Amino acid sequence: MLKAREQIISVSRDLHEIGLLVRTWGNISCRVDAGHFLVTPSGIQYEDLTPEMIVLVNIKDLSYEGEYLPSSESKVHAAAYRIRPECNFIIHTHQVFASCAGTLGVKKIFTYFEDEDVTIPVARYALPGTDELAKNVAHTLKKYKDSNGIIMANHGTLCLGDNYKEAVYEAEMMETACNNFLVDVCKMDVTQGVEALFGSHLENGKIVYDVKDTPERVRQIHEMIYAKRKDVNFIVHNKSDAVMMVSRIADHMRPLLDDFAQLIGTGVRIPANEGDIYANIKKNVNVVFAPNDGAYCVGSTEDDATAVAIVLDKGCIAYMAAMRNGEAHYLSFFECLKMNRHYRKNYSKLADLGK
Ligand SMILES: [Zn+2]
Repeated sequence: MLKAREQIISVSRDLHEIGLLVRTWGNISCRVDAGHFLVTPSGIQYEDLTPEMIVLVNIKDLSYEGEYLPSSESKVHAAAYRIRPECNFIIHTHQVFASCAGTLGVKKIFTYFEDEDVTIPVARYALPGTDELAKNVAHTLKKYKDSNGIIMANHGTLCLGDNYKEAVYEAEMMETACNNFLVDVCKMDVTQGVEALFGSHLENGKIVYDVKDTPERVRQIHEMIYAKRKDVNFIVHNKSDAVMMVSRIADHMRPLLDDFAQLIGTGVRIPANEGDIYANIKKNVNVVFAPNDGAYCVGSTEDDATAVAIVLDKGCIAYMAAMRNGEAHYLSFFECLKMNRHYRKNYSKLADLGK
């Protein structure tokens, strides 16, 4: 059992290193006998995992042992183990390109990996942690018996394997195949990640800029944000490819991914000119766009602001892909509200656990 626990941690570190697992998002499990699996705990950063934190869960009734809460997606893992007796290792990620491809409202992604054609099924959306989501995933796994990697619409992936190597292969293959799809079908050839420029934070009530010669027009935006949002202590100015594109052409973003609804807000406006920025600094919207100049991602801690910047980049890739595809499946306002409220209610607790 200790070996299995250590293996989960070592896989989580590998996936973290190559960028497929970030922060506390996603989870990993391993079947240990006919009735049980081990799964990563809820709300702990991958860097901080130790073997005793990995939770033993009963496949049938989801009961568990120990002081750590199993991942909130344990229902999905349990459903997969029930349906696929040959599967012994599962990775759930929020990886960027596969998650974005899963917002376009299609049931299957037709793409390629190296010289092979690949079809990736997409399970219908349901709110994370619900029985409905486990049901939707189960339905897709039953229907597409040959697929060991599926996308969970508007959310992430589920990668199955007989062993950890196979599951890791699925995750990597899907990311490349979905990037190929976005390049070919949506003409979205972008790098992913945060491109931080003019950040700042508050120190004893004073604004400290990351870059000494931050221009005056940018300083004014930082001042406006701190003046209007008393809960903000950190600002990350994100100028990644996709965020720049959206700041140039869009006027309004609705969430295509549920982590966007959760961390950023239920919708974001992009002002047409600099004079409108102030009016777009809003409570419970953690991003302030500047026309043609990226977006300011805000948080009460550096960690929060960075999380917002990461999720915004992914949200902007999804947004641009959806625009160019011409069709997408947006989250309903109800789903967005649910995600957003849940986050605000539970976040401080999760942040404490994550330390
Ligand atoms: Zn997830």
